[in-house]
Amino acid sequence: MFRATNAKAQNWHTTMMVFIHACILTVALFPLSIDSSYAKSDKIKGYLDQKSDVSDIQFVSTITPTPKPELILLLGGNIVEMEGPLIRPSMEEVLPISSSTIGGLLSIEANLFIKREINLTLKKNETLADILKRAEFPSNVRYQIAKIVSQKINVRKLGIGMNFTIGFDDYNQPVAVKINQSEKLDYFIFKNTFGSWQGLQALRPIDSQFMHAAGVIDDTLYEAALSSNVPLSALDNFMRVMGFSVDFQRQLQQGDTFELVYKKTTDRITGETLSVGEVHYVGMVLSGKKIGYYRHQNNNGSIGWYDKDGTSAVRTLMRTPVNGARLSSSYGMRKHPISGYNKLHKGVDFAVPSGTPILAAGAGRIEMAGWNGNYGRYIRIRHNNTYQTAYAHLSAIAKGVYAGSQVDQGQVIGYVGSTGRSTGPHLHYEILVNRRQVNPMTINLPTGKNLSDVDKNSFENTVKNLNQYITNNDIKNYAGATL
Ligand SMILES: [Zn+2]
Repeated sequence: MFRATNAKAQNWHTTMMVFIHACILTVALFPLSIDSSYAKSDKIKGYLDQKSDVSDIQFVSTITPTPKPELILLLGGNIVEMEGPLIRPSMEEVLPISSSTIGGLLSIEANLFIKREINLTLKKNETLADILKRAEFPSNVRYQIAKIVSQKINVRKLGIGMNFTIGFDDYNQPVAVKINQSEKLDYFIFKNTFGSWQGLQALRPIDSQFMHAAGVIDDTLYEAALSSNVPLSALDNFMRVMGFSVDFQRQLQQGDTFELVYKKTTDRITGETLSVGEVHYVGMVLSGKKIGYYRHQNNNGSIGWYDKDGTSAVRTLMRTPVNGARLSSSYGMRKHPISGYNKLHKGVDFAVPSGTPILAAGAGRIEMAGWNGNYGRYIRIRHNNTYQTAYAHLSAIAKGVYAGSQVDQGQVIGYVGSTGRSTGPHLHYEILVNRRQVNPMTINLPTGKNLSDVDKNSFENTVKNLNQYITNNDIKNYAGATL
């Protein structure tokens, strides 16, 4: 067998044509027990000979070059050309799974027997050539290995502490190197049974499981989440989804609860946790009222968050367009901190450090971006015929943001400051309905795009599968199923 690693689409296409052709011959002429390499060996060998200088095709295991006539021609049949699939297969389909030892994978994929292996760590100021020298590879081999390594890895940017596993054969000669290329990939470079050096990428085996965390909020959500061991990246994800419906500053009451289900991925070889941030369910009970959203991948590949009825978690506008904000002054009558007069405060103030990025609360067109009297540096976005949002006292306006430019929801439009009539760094934020300021914290905002009919069925499966997982794994206290 041969394997195309990271082949260009054209190569893959040609390869598939040869392969499918060979399969047709095999299936047509022989019962399934016959080794398919027998029938296709000629054809493939010819292909490989002609392509052997192409760097991204690598041979994985021995090809027995048994000369064989084109059987179908002997039998008077016709060769049918068939188009292979045009979509390039994913890495998961093409690459073998890596092993903890260097010999494990190579014995299966390359018929190479490793008698002994050692681990070497890249030291400060050491190059790839240095470490290969340390592994006692002869100089001409070091050159060949470096050439193969550089096809997949930037050899000038190897990190100190990078691990190299070296495999030795029966004669105590170094015959293989394994490099941990990335979180997902290992790269094996070895001497094949033809005596030449080649590279092979393999996927590091990854386990993934759902984790459930829940807790009661006594003080802040942040503290409750930490004491329930919620990873910070998952909490961030949770707040971004929930932030559309919940005002974390003012709406939370003692005794409210939260829960989330997130995915944890682990490297099976090292046991190391790779990621914990991908959240699949978020739920809260606020003064007895339940809210819950599921992550769902739509038909077009986009990720959406929906409640069990398929209503989107996303609102057309965000109530809090800065991360990590503390509400310092709310909407309504107040004594103005500078003038001292009682005045209607027509927006909300968020106390955040100067320089904190400000996000567009919704998609729209910039109406104004520049100095605006007491407002200082100021941006106003028109979202549609009804809604506008405004941001004041900015220290700077982001690049590409000017009157007439288009922005996406969540895009950074500027940075918090204290320009204009302001007592200290904060963001003054306004939502306008039909050109009049309203209270951003209490206004009922319309939701984002709901599920299409096409996506409704698959969404039901998403919910069912997650609930099933929770039940099968005997995860307690999960309220999601009942929300
Ligand atoms: Zn204000």
